[in-house]
Amino acid sequence: MEQHNLTLGIPSFTYADLYSSARLKDLTAAFDESIKHHDTDLFDRFSAYRESQGADLSPEQQSEIVVEMAPFVGQFVAKLFNITEQHQAQGNKIKDEIDTIFTYKNEVVEKLGVYFKGQDTSEWPVPAILNRFDLLIAAGFPEANADPDPEHRVARVGAVIGLLSSHYKTLAKGKASDYQNADEQVAALRSKLAAHDLAAAEFAELLGNNDDGELVAGLMDTVQRWSFIAQQDNDIVADWLSFKFPGKRDFDSLVAHETVDRGEFSTWMGEQEHRRRRDGFKLTDPRYNQRQVLSEVNHCIYCHERDTDSCSKGMRNKKTNTFKVDPLGVTTIGCPLDEKISEMHLVKRRGDNIGALAVIIIDNPMCPGTGHRICNECMKGCIYQKTDPVNIPEIETSVLTDVLFLPYGFEIYSLLTRWNPLNVKRPYMLPYNGKNALVVGLGPAGYTMSHYLLNEGFGVAGIDGLKLEPLPVELTGDANTLPMPIVDFNDLYEDLDKRILAGFGGVAEYGITVRWDKNFLKVIYLTLQRRAAFRSYGGVRFGGTITIEDAWKLGFDHICIASGAGQPTVIDLKNNLMRGIRKASDFLMALQLTGAAKSSSLANLQVRLPAGVIGGGLTAMDTATELMAYYPVQVEKIKHRYDTLVAIHGVDKVRTRYDQEESLILDEFLAHGAAIIAERERAAAADEDPDFQPLVLAWGGVTLFYRKGIVDAPAYRQNHEEITKALEEGIALAEGMSPLG
Ligand code: SF4
Repeated sequence: MEQHNLTLGIPSFTYADLYSSARLKDLTAAFDESIKHHDTDLFDRFSAYRESQGADLSPEQQSEIVVEMAPFVGQFVAKLFNITEQHQAQGNKIKDEIDTIFTYKNEVVEKLGVYFKGQDTSEWPVPAILNRFDLLIAAGFPEANADPDPEHRVARVGAVIGLLSSHYKTLAKGKASDYQNADEQVAALRSKLAAHDLAAAEFAELLGNNDDGELVAGLMDTVQRWSFIAQQDNDIVADWLSFKFPGKRDFDSLVAHETVDRGEFSTWMGEQEHRRRRDGFKLTDPRYNQRQVLSEVNHCIYCHERDTDSCSKGMRNKKTNTFKVDPLGVTTIGCPLDEKISEMHLVKRRGDNIGALAVIIIDNPMCPGTGHRICNECMKGCIYQKTDPVNIPEIETSVLTDVLFLPYGFEIYSLLTRWNPLNVKRPYMLPYNGKNALVVGLGPAGYTMSHYLLNEGFGVAGIDGLKLEPLPVELTGDANTLPMPIVDFNDLYEDLDKRILAGFGGVAEYGITVRWDKNFLKVIYLTLQRRAAFRSYGGVRFGGTITIEDAWKLGFDHICIASGAGQPTVIDLKNNLMRGIRKASDFLMALQLTGAAKSSSLANLQVRLPAGVIGGGLTAMDTATELMAYYPVQVEKIKHRYDTLVAIHGVDKVRTRYDQEESLILDEFLAHGAAIIAERERAAAADEDPDFQPLVLAWGGVTLFYRKGIVDAPAYRQNHEEITKALEEGIALAEGMSPLG
């Protein structure tokens, strides 16, 4: 096989070295040297921190040194993979957004309520103010004026004027300001306005005043008035993140919904304007874009600087030193992994995704398996309890994806799991120590345990009771061959509705719907599979295929049980296996494992409408949404198959295979399938996504029945955002519904 190679940007290191414990130790030494070269004081402080493991430092001091050092890790790793240019370009984009959109927001928009308290724009000469602001941009900021992004165009101007205004106000109070080159900027602005005929006339009075502070105050007034008008009346800024502020939180009303009367009972349904069209089993949540993520980063107040970062450490009751309980009864423990969230946010804000990822990986090396649509204890613990918390999972996942989609992004993530100078407990993986562990179950617990054991030098064999699809040896490498370096993560990426279930990841593979991007499991699987001391085996059931005695005989020194509940939950309910009834977990598992939703699958997973789901947990929510999405796929598939068979064999021959009841169901499915196909054709002609919700609802829809109030349901208390997302897909929730008998 071809020997893969990758020329690294740090002299004397080879691609193979990135998989060698001894050479990763040397890489740490090279990193140390580079820090010494850049900043001896920082190196000395970091060395002392590594030596003491932080024993003599306060939490704030430990955080500070991690935040200081992270950008050096970012730069070093970028250099190692020869992507400094791309890394800097990414950083520049982030810094630009912060310096424009979010500086405008912080300096201008945020203060409008106080500045214009009680004022009504109807008494203002609105057209004149709008015109004055446009002139200010056109004459004073011609580059901004040509900006095709309307929010960025305004923010570029608002940020500069806002900062200048703060600077001159600070000076006027007799205080020092660290804003640089203000006078030069004002001089340049003054001459640009004076050189523009219309602007010179419009701003004549201000330009006639030689006091720079007063000129800026006058321009700031225009910026503020324009912004206030826009905030009050302008639809254009409705979606601008510079105008978005966190909403108040009412714990009894976290999920916006409509109440629909169904005769004998009523249901919660998603508001029409928030309904989302879903077509099958593609990824349903594309995640936030960069500006949305940075809006969350900007919402954070970096509490690690005061050791109050409850998103990571939990909300503590100082008197009792116990965790606080929120109004929904949820104990606010913060991130169970103690991820350095606040520090990561600050490093991201400063423009370094690789550094931010290194901060995450200190405590959460398997971060592809966490974050958006997976966990939210951090959000529950965020210091903002009365308003919307910071959407930490979106930020965490964006840090990961922004790195993964850099050139060699997968290689960078993978390296940081084996080598991370910020992790002073284990900066690089240890060499094989001769001891072997059997890890039973390759779900989140099993794969995380495998990672930690490997880094401590153990050999690990991971087994899973279900199938594991092997990864191509070209990607994993073997004893004699290095893995092929992955330059572009898109080469690994698969569409969720087309991918073959790899089986790796346990509950994350089978129990989580396509709301979450399962390509992340491949990242973890491949990262582990490339480790020389790791093997994985599917279809091996512990206690059956292999027993404890077998494990000892095979030479394992340790067995780690990470198989979770291990068995399907058997519900003590009469007739619970009768036709038409399925356990939620069994349905989800069947849907995922058999690939029933794929057009190529012959799996027999039959659902009829109306469908009801009993329960109030997140599994019930998932089951309801997947039923809703599966039904159109099922009937469309049946219609296509039936038509194909009839075309080949004739209708009579095909129909003789069905008994009377089956024929009834078949006709129902064929009629529904035809309606789905018609809607698909209508949508294609209109160049829009098909909307199956009205059809599925007309056929009875999917209703979740819960015995108590929805606000008492575990899904509401643990992760109400999932209910909001589920309602967008058209399911109904009926509360106060106990099964009879
Ligand atoms: S996410 Fe919330 S708790 Fe955490 S640092 Fe930011 S504001 Fe503070």
